[in-house]
Amino acid sequence: MSSILTSILRIVVSLVIPFGSFVHAADSPRKPNIVFIFSDDHSIQTIGAYESRLSEFCKKHAITPNIDKLAAEGGVFVNSFCANSLCSPSRAAILTGLHGHANGVRTLTQGITPGVWSFPKALGEAGYQAAVFGKWHLASKPEYETWSVLQGQGPYENPRLSSANGAEAYEGYTTDVITDVSLAWLEKRDQSKPFFLAVQHKAPHRNWIPPVRFATWLDGTEIPEPETLFDNYENRGSGARNQKMEIDRHMAMASDLKVGEQFAKDPRYAARNADFAKRKPEGRDLVRWKYQEYLKDYLRCIRAVDESVGRIDEALKKAGLSEKTIVIYSSDQGFFMGEHGWFDKRWIYEESLHMPFIIRWPGVVKPGTRFAEFIQNIDYAPAFMELTGGKTPDGLHGKSFVPVLKGATPADWRKSVYYHYYDTGHGVPVHYGLRAEQFTLAHFPDTKEWELFDLKKDPQQMRNVFTDAAYAADVTKLQAELTRLRAQYHATEETAPAKQGKRAKK
Ligand code: CA
Repeated sequence: MSSILTSILRIVVSLVIPFGSFVHAADSPRKPNIVFIFSDDHSIQTIGAYESRLSEFCKKHAITPNIDKLAAEGGVFVNSFCANSLCSPSRAAILTGLHGHANGVRTLTQGITPGVWSFPKALGEAGYQAAVFGKWHLASKPEYETWSVLQGQGPYENPRLSSANGAEAYEGYTTDVITDVSLAWLEKRDQSKPFFLAVQHKAPHRNWIPPVRFATWLDGTEIPEPETLFDNYENRGSGARNQKMEIDRHMAMASDLKVGEQFAKDPRYAARNADFAKRKPEGRDLVRWKYQEYLKDYLRCIRAVDESVGRIDEALKKAGLSEKTIVIYSSDQGFFMGEHGWFDKRWIYEESLHMPFIIRWPGVVKPGTRFAEFIQNIDYAPAFMELTGGKTPDGLHGKSFVPVLKGATPADWRKSVYYHYYDTGHGVPVHYGLRAEQFTLAHFPDTKEWELFDLKKDPQQMRNVFTDAAYAADVTKLQAELTRLRAQYHATEETAPAKQGKRAKK
């Protein structure tokens, strides 16, 4: 009887009240909240959910349990790429949906060209409250309604956050502070509107200073070494041979590894300094020693970022927002974790090209989905606009991947991504190229060199096969594809124009 009554009531309600008018905007399934958690230099190798080189180690030692949980409850994009593996350019590509040559940010010292559209402003127009907290790292000011951001790179401890009202000093570990201010905003936000919250961590950017609580965690564990730790850079172009980003020759004992008199009494680094003094490693042993300490500091920073993800998840749950909030975890580009003997990023090569992109969208993305579609940071802005009902201007380079999330990938979805690195920091030469399913093609305009890697046969990218006759047909096809991509994006330049100012070092 009661079920009949309920049915009648439902029919009456649906006839009398048009859909949507009795639910508040914040509750409407058409207007989800979005939490965008974004870290700096987080490699996919160091996320359990990515099934990459170190994922087993990460799972065993619970490095990223909360990020992995998010992935298990949502989806992982295994082919998510940046357009230029460097902090500011990646951030500008995300904000504008454009490659660097069109948004003005090719290197680290530049801001978005005035007048170029960026998505945070459009969020306001779509009825969203939008806020960003943490690392910004662009010469141009945020266009979020609310912003409180680090100045430049920002420190690992006791940061100052700048906002429209001036700068404010905070005490504590920066990852925790950014989480605190983000959650405080979430609590006091205007509940009549949907929200977009960007939580942008400084960690795990160089020089990898962990919070005191994790300073000695992982001591005594052995992190698996990459097969290419002692790469000799044979069979590749001059760029790989001449770079300055080797753990061996370019990682600093003091600032990077915290070894030296000034650290001997620091409780975080005393044991490490004692160990170093006792062993006095040299040659390959020293490289191995540095590799272990570098990765441990990096993973300790990650552990704190992961805690932030857990705290945000918990806060959403407590506020009853989990079901109506899309949570994304991403980072501005990948990072070398000793592969090729390197730290840092910059290259079109796999480790630095990949960006983590994990998304939980309850009711839409099936838990445990692994998306193979190629997405790029230029796609985030159009996707955010589709999700929030905002207006996307014509001419963006990126494409919304919302249809992909809904399981309706368009037949003509891209099969390759365009990449262009303009900086020359760490001795990495300017290069541009593409990443397709099986191949990476790169051109180095300053030396007129080309590189081609067959990712199926050579996933570690150790052998340039550009001049190999067996690949002649592939070269022709891929060069034509590169020309097509450059025409599509109106990319006419090869190196950054001189008027763009000095190329930054870091
Ligand atoms: Ca970065």
